[in-house]
Amino acid sequence: MEPLIGRTIVERVQSVLSKIRSAEERAGRPGGSVRLVAVTKTVAVDHIKEGLRAGLTILGENRVQEALPKKAALTEHPACWHFIGHLQRRKVRSVIGLFDVIHSVDSVDLAQEIDRRAGEADHHQSVLLEINIGNEPTKAGFHPEDVVRSVSAMAELPHLSVKGLMTIPPQTDDPQSARPYFQKLKELAQQIAALKIPSVSMDDLSMGMSNDYEVAIEEGATLVRVGTALFGARHV
Ligand SMILES: *Cc1c(COP(=O)(O)O)cnc(C)c1O
Repeated sequence: MEPLIGRTIVERVQSVLSKIRSAEERAGRPGGSVRLVAVTKTVAVDHIKEGLRAGLTILGENRVQEALPKKAALTEHPACWHFIGHLQRRKVRSVIGLFDVIHSVDSVDLAQEIDRRAGEADHHQSVLLEINIGNEPTKAGFHPEDVVRSVSAMAELPHLSVKGLMTIPPQTDDPQSARPYFQKLKELAQQIAALKIPSVSMDDLSMGMSNDYEVAIEEGATLVRVGTALFGARHV
C-alpha cells in the first residue's frame, strides 16, 4: 500500500475518491456507481470531522459501544452511518434507527431479531447479508451454498429489507488474489436476483477494503469499506 505518513486526511480522501473514479472508468461503469464507506473504527472524532469536511459522506463503524458515542458527538455533521461489524443479538435494539444500512447480517436468527426490534420501533431496516465467501472456518457469514435457501425466509420479514451482499475475502497481501472471491460474490448476487424474490434486491455489493478496493470495483462493488487508506494505520 502507498505510504501514508506525512499526508493529511484531506489528501488521502481526495486520493481514494479519485482512485474510485478511475476504477469505475476502467470497468466501464458510470461515475458515481460506487460509494465510499469510510471506516472510522478507532478514529478520533476530530479526524472524522476532517474527513467529512474533505468530502466523506458515509461512515462505517463495527462496534456498537464505540459507534454510539461517536454518532452522538457528530450530530451536527450530517453523514450516513453504516454498521459493518459483527452484531450480537442482544445489541440489536440499541442500533435500530441509527444506521442506514447494516452490512453484516450473518444468520436468519439475527435477521429475525432485527425485524422484531425494528417493528417495535416502527422502523424499517435495510440490511446486507454477510457471506463467508472463502468458507473460512473461523469467519462469520452465510456459507455461499446456504444463503439462497435462507434468503427466502428473510424475505418474509416485514420490517427488514435485504438490499445485497457483503463479504470480507480471505486475507492476503496481494489484492489480485481477492479477485476470484469478488467475482464469486457477484455471481451469487446474480443467482439470488434471478429468483426475483419479492422485497429482496441485490443492488448493493459491499466488498473491497484499503488494499483491494480498486479490484473490488472492477468486479462490481457498489460499496467499498475503506479505513486505513483514509485515516492511517490503526494502533489498537
Ligand atoms: C476495519 C474494516 C474495514 C476497513 O479495513 P481497512 O483495511 O482499514 O480499509 C472494512 N470492513 C470491515 C468489516 C472492517 O471491520
